[in-house]
Amino acid sequence: MTAGRGGLYQNIIARIKNAGDKTFITGSSGDYLYSDIDPICAKIQNVMTGVGVKKGSRVLVQVEKSPEAVMLYLACLRMGAIFVPLNTGYTSGEVSYFFENSEPDLCVVSPDKQESFKDIVGEKPVLTLSSNKDGSLWQQCSDANAEIAELTSDDIAAILYTSGTTGRSKGAMLSNENLRSNAEVLSEYWQWSEDDVLLHVLPIFHVHGLFVALHCALWTTNTMIFHNGLNVENIIADLARSTVFMGVPTHYVRLLDNPTFNADVCRNMRLFLSGSAPLLTETFIQFEERSGLKILERYGMTEAGMITSNPYNGERVAGTVGFPLPGVSGRIGAEKDGKGVLEIKGANVFKGYWRMPEKTKEEFTDDGFFITGDISTMDADGRFTIVGRAKDLIITGGFNVYPKEIESLIDDIDGVKESAVIGVAHPDFGEGVTAIVILDDTKNMTEADIDNLICDSLAKFKLPKKIYIIDALPRNTMGKVQKNALRETYADIYRKLK
Ligand code: AMP
Repeated sequence: MTAGRGGLYQNIIARIKNAGDKTFITGSSGDYLYSDIDPICAKIQNVMTGVGVKKGSRVLVQVEKSPEAVMLYLACLRMGAIFVPLNTGYTSGEVSYFFENSEPDLCVVSPDKQESFKDIVGEKPVLTLSSNKDGSLWQQCSDANAEIAELTSDDIAAILYTSGTTGRSKGAMLSNENLRSNAEVLSEYWQWSEDDVLLHVLPIFHVHGLFVALHCALWTTNTMIFHNGLNVENIIADLARSTVFMGVPTHYVRLLDNPTFNADVCRNMRLFLSGSAPLLTETFIQFEERSGLKILERYGMTEAGMITSNPYNGERVAGTVGFPLPGVSGRIGAEKDGKGVLEIKGANVFKGYWRMPEKTKEEFTDDGFFITGDISTMDADGRFTIVGRAKDLIITGGFNVYPKEIESLIDDIDGVKESAVIGVAHPDFGEGVTAIVILDDTKNMTEADIDNLICDSLAKFKLPKKIYIIDALPRNTMGKVQKNALRETYADIYRKLK
């Protein structure tokens, strides 16, 4: 089935027009019906227009998760402004870069961040939005008369920042059609029905919670139960009134750690989805033993939304990410020993990195495939398994951390000669950020000193969980640091925690 193209918002409005009385989101600040969406978005649009936001303007957003933050996102879609969400954990130093790079016409921030934003943005307007229906943006909402913008499929809907291997993030430009096509394909592939209830526990500054979860629910007019933050007791309590759950592997490990998690609490559940990081086979097996349900693992990334998925009806094989979704082509590039970097093409693939045409060009093959950077195998049936990352990415609790960024910060400390940051298997987070540091002879420093010196400069999830000071980094004959050797040496450090 192909729905009309054009703007994602028009598509959503057409899909939800008969669902007015149905609950769209139920969260701690109250409930919203489907019929609330358009008038609220129009009001927000008017406030944004009033401060100078136009079609194509970037709106930089660093707010707590809330139904009102969802409305802000939808309002941007409605008027053709480009939504640029930021991880709520980013420090002001990190935010400065995103502000300079995205050149927004408006910043919307949590009230507690307003002061630090003022220093960053100068004369640019800043509005606030809290998670309890407050803040200057919300207070100014009144007039619901505003035209829905006429958009083309190629108009950019959002820019989501991915970390770069150089430590600097790149803004992935996602068009209305990138998002629309993925919503349509996923809701069909995972067999969403109007009766589904989604337990939404993911952050909404990332592709997983913002696009995959939210769009699937909107596309099929489902009710979402909104949680802010990971509280296992609350998740277990709400599973009984849900049918679909989307999580990162950390969620599943935490559920299994809780003795009250069992098949009975999952009695209404039809689907548990996992992605954003590899799900361990042991988690998949234990989860099935406890709940009676097989987790459906899928694979995707900021630049392309969802790419592959285990089948809904066919076999869900632990450790694999399944098959390319309908409309997506996947192939293994420069294959060696059966492995190579996964390359993809499809309506889901982004329009390039914001203001980085050269970088964009490097990431595509001559015949137009996007080079994902993930090393994969493909079996005889066409099933893919991700076996590593060509780029040195660490994924901790579902968040990406690029070692280079942390290494640069540590290397700048007086008394540090060099450092290597690696991801080490961690029972809770998938990988734990781990820093190996070499001192020069100028200062006597401890691991705790280094931790103190970097802890205010980085979002919490990026901070090394452990730091080791050693004499020298292992290097090969070409002078390259052997991170594999370090990973082997430190392989067990978090296992011993349990
Ligand atoms: P992000 O752009 O934050 O969504 O991160 C994308 C990266 O997460 C991918 O390039 C993969 O390295 C990794 N990833 C996502 N899903 C999976 C999965 N199911 N298994 C293994 N790695 C995954």
